Amino acid sequence: MRPNIETFLGCDAEFDEASAVLFGAPFDSTTSFRPGARFGPSAMRHESFGIETFSPYQNKDLTDCAVFDAGDLELCFGDPALALEDIEKTAAEIMDAGKLPVLLGGEHLVTLGSVRAAHKLFPDLHLIHFDAHADLRDDYLGARLSHACVMRRCHELLGDGHIHQFCIRSGEREEFEFAKRHTELRLFDFEGLEALCERLRLSGAPVYLSIDLDCLDPAVFPGTGTPEAGGVTFPELLRAILTAAQTEIAAADLNELAPMLDPSGVSTATACKVLRELLLALA
Ligand code: MN
Ligand code: MN
Repeated sequence: MRPNIETFLGCDAEFDEASAVLFGAPFDSTTSFRPGARFGPSAMRHESFGIETFSPYQNKDLTDCAVFDAGDLELCFGDPALALEDIEKTAAEIMDAGKLPVLLGGEHLVTLGSVRAAHKLFPDLHLIHFDAHADLRDDYLGARLSHACVMRRCHELLGDGHIHQFCIRSGEREEFEFAKRHTELRLFDFEGLEALCERLRLSGAPVYLSIDLDCLDPAVFPGTGTPEAGGVTFPELLRAILTAAQTEIAAADLNELAPMLDPSGVSTATACKVLRELLLALA
């Protein structure tokens, strides 16, 4: 008999033998529109048993990878700063053990905790960011710790030329002006990603990969807090993940699934498939 512990599909390695470690940050307190992303990680674990461990895209099977699922952090809902400290501590613990942390949001602010940990270990860290939204506001209604500001806070750590944004199709005029001076921002799709990853691969630079699932078109991924028409398809996102995986990935995250906003369950199933492919590409 085995204990009744629900992990993501095929992620049942012990911590010591694992090359990658999944951990959930069920936090959505700064969500600007429709909340619910706090239920993302547990929904993905539960629904993952609806998909296969084998990927015909990569000819790999999750059961051949050593991934440990650490479950969800118990985070303070009322204090984003405290929640970020806990996320940073956990990501640091995983990286100190020589393993790849894969963080499941939650809203996109959770990325900042993990990026802080990665940046301490790798001062030259580059961040590849897939999202419908620029997330470059300096504050949102006065709050500087908000999912709408997460890339702006990351920029304060990583500096100019270290943040590379793709699929962006929403933001204030000021965010796009800021991006012109401080980040590499690509509109609407993944154009330029291959050349960037080739450059990063050759330089051996450490890379953080952050995937806001709302980069996908709401037609395939409606279960998210701020859906934005005009997104990419699943095959396009998959190709982009495989391209990014050619670089030296130090840490990664997948965020902004709000399962209850899509009663059909298709968004959760899609998120599970994205995570499977991400793990197979990285682990
Ligand atoms: Mn985002
Ligand atoms: Mn977004």
